[in-house]
Amino acid sequence: MTETPDPLLFTASGVPIERVLAVMAHPDDIDFGAGGTIRALTQAGVQVSYCLVTDGDAGGFDPTVPRSEIPRIRQAEQRAAGAILGVEDVIFLGYRDGELTVSHELRRDISRVIRQVRPQRVLLQSPERNWARIQASHPDHMAAGDAAIQAVYPDARNPFAHPSLLEDEGLEEWSVPEVWVLASPTPNMWLDVTDHIDFKLAALRAHESQTSHMDDLDERIRGWLGMWAQQGGLPDGRLAEAFMVVATA
Ligand SMILES: [Zn+2]
Repeated sequence: MTETPDPLLFTASGVPIERVLAVMAHPDDIDFGAGGTIRALTQAGVQVSYCLVTDGDAGGFDPTVPRSEIPRIRQAEQRAAGAILGVEDVIFLGYRDGELTVSHELRRDISRVIRQVRPQRVLLQSPERNWARIQASHPDHMAAGDAAIQAVYPDARNPFAHPSLLEDEGLEEWSVPEVWVLASPTPNMWLDVTDHIDFKLAALRAHESQTSHMDDLDERIRGWLGMWAQQGGLPDGRLAEAFMVVATA
């Protein structure tokens, strides 16, 4: 009997995972959606990079903080949260929060990062609206997710797409074999992250401008993760993060 390879560290078709790229609309999205998974990956020696499409400059809850300060604050919070989970490489694309649309420029900018990082797996947000969890389907999330999957297929792997990437920047095509979709209406993978919950919560608390007023953050997160574990058929008391795994090569 052959053992099934660990789905965290191999794609469904058996490609070993060395590098993972998460493309997210806002600072804190990766920590809410996949903080435990990120920590599991880095603990296993996988190199994880973040690509944040906006600086989250429409976020925050404290009206006394000058709005012009928000991008700097949120970038610093995301770097701090990343450090807690073992992620050092954090790239910001600088698009405006709340105004994101799928554009040729956004597809090119994400394709650039894919060609630089050369990941075996990309984590992205669902471009499909999840009617059961409307807060997860922020329009920026859907636009970032849609642009990211278009960058995965076909742009980043097509040497003739965004020709300046190759001609001016010397970035060769890269084919990403697998994508994990966050907040999908139809998840097919429930990853047990019980051992990483304290790190996920610490990363979320590092987004002080977003979470410091949430007294029930721990209960809320444990509630969601417990629900997903149950949905995925994990034993009682376990916590899981849910994804839709898609073969892209
Ligand atoms: Zn968000």
